[in-house]
Amino acid sequence: MERIAAPAILGSHLRVAGSYALWLRLTAPIELSVGRLGCWAFAAGDYMYLGSARGPGGLATRVGRHMRQDDKRRRWHIDYLLEHATMVEVWLRPGVERLECIWAKYLHRVWAGRVIVAGFGASDCRCPTHLLYWPALPDPAALCAGLESVARYAAAGPSSTRK
Ligand SMILES: [Zn+2]
Repeated sequence: MERIAAPAILGSHLRVAGSYALWLRLTAPIELSVGRLGCWAFAAGDYMYLGSARGPGGLATRVGRHMRQDDKRRRWHIDYLLEHATMVEVWLRPGVERLECIWAKYLHRVWAGRVIVAGFGASDCRCPTHLLYWPALPDPAALCAGLESVARYAAAGPSSTRK
């Protein structure tokens, strides 16, 4: 897992498929319309958004897009939040497995990340959400290490990534 402070230029070694976590911060509460999900209240604090990139340019292109501040067209739920949140760090893990669903479950169950918006980022799966909230992220280093061990566990048993 590569931890990178945002914003950053992502190296060409990251032009590969992989999964990522965005660590975001809202310094003040906000009410925000999130496309078809409607209007939601977002508390001030820390958020983790989980995703994966498999298209051309891989992690570098996708996460680079998330970092851009220009008025890009809103394509994903996260685009609405990114217009208001500060990106603290991005955590990138190259690999063919799609880890966002098991990462989201892990952060919810083990780290008590709260579901703020049902279905956020999870249009294509059955997860409650791909966006977890804490008033302040409990222990970023330990949390990041936890995501890495979950990823290794998933790689050891292919079926476990689809639960
Ligand atoms: Zn999911």
